[in-house]
Amino acid sequence: MAKPEPIAYIWHKDYVNESDRYIPTTNRNVMVHLLIEAYGLLDNMMTVTPKKASIQDLAAFHSMDYLNFLSNPNSNRDEDSINDENDDYGLEYDCPIQDGIIEYCQRVAGGTIEAARMLNNGFCKTAIHWLGGWHHAKRSNAAGFCYVNDCVLGIIELRKKFERVLYIDLDLHHGDGVQDAFCGTNKVLTFSIHKFEPGFFPGTGSDKEIGYGKGKYYTVNVPLLDGARDDTFCDIFDKIAPTVLKKFKPGAILCQLGADGLNEDPMHSFNLTHKSQIHCIRKIQNWGIPLLILGGGGYNPANTARTWTSVTASLIGKEISEDIPEHEYFLEYGPHYELPVSQSLRKDLNTSKYIAEVVSTVENNLEQIN
Ligand SMILES: [Zn+2]
Repeated sequence: MAKPEPIAYIWHKDYVNESDRYIPTTNRNVMVHLLIEAYGLLDNMMTVTPKKASIQDLAAFHSMDYLNFLSNPNSNRDEDSINDENDDYGLEYDCPIQDGIIEYCQRVAGGTIEAARMLNNGFCKTAIHWLGGWHHAKRSNAAGFCYVNDCVLGIIELRKKFERVLYIDLDLHHGDGVQDAFCGTNKVLTFSIHKFEPGFFPGTGSDKEIGYGKGKYYTVNVPLLDGARDDTFCDIFDKIAPTVLKKFKPGAILCQLGADGLNEDPMHSFNLTHKSQIHCIRKIQNWGIPLLILGGGGYNPANTARTWTSVTASLIGKEISEDIPEHEYFLEYGPHYELPVSQSLRKDLNTSKYIAEVVSTVENNLEQIN
């Protein structure tokens, strides 16, 4: 049997602990890491400590004005002008300015850039950075818990080696920041499956958004309705993803695996389990193309940890027990203390007629790619 391809796992203890301070996920990031460790999966991967990205690295996408403000939000300004500028840069509500925010941004971006460099240098075929995936940040503003867009920065890094990079976004929310960054180019195709409904954040992601100029048809959006189950999600992925692959022929793939579409997530929208993420990521891995995997949303810490641990084990090709191993956060997995995420009985509003219409629209657009 062929030796399995090495997988890089990007993490550092201080970085994991610190990252939970800046996003409203309680101890999610530390729980993800400790469950992966408790299952012994670190022994099967190359663990990589990322360096902090420099301000110049962040400026590959973000404006210097925005980065200067993040670096020094309180310097020489009166309170009124600080509040005005906070508004301008999106630094309010779900993205408040916090002490040390620029260091956190440099760590997140540094982790994803490091993962991209591992792939560029051929050190691994798959790189995992569960602490990344902040797909809403724009060039000059924060949004939706995202201060810097490490997805965009990772794609820019991959593009130094690979002509065409495919971005796949399976988070509950539309990957608007990444779409905005690349909707005018045919070198990056963005493919996002998400909830789309009036009033639902970020408000974009209709199947009518297809890119423009050279990038026309290189933006692929699959809008879904509430209650989406694994079979709906996997079916639509299986219908569209192979056409995306055939038409676009990417040299590398960056995949955002946000877990806020899981059943029991406080977003209370989709009704997915770990199975849909495993299904999609195994298919992508089997394409045999360098693959960078990021986290993202996921506001039920135990279910997010269950799912990303299951995905990690699946990528390694290791069977793991359904019984959660004893470890520091064991009690968080009650009352059943098992690894699988369950589905609820909620109705799936995505009828077969609705799915057929979305697939037909998307396929007609993809046909236009030469
Ligand atoms: Zn999300």
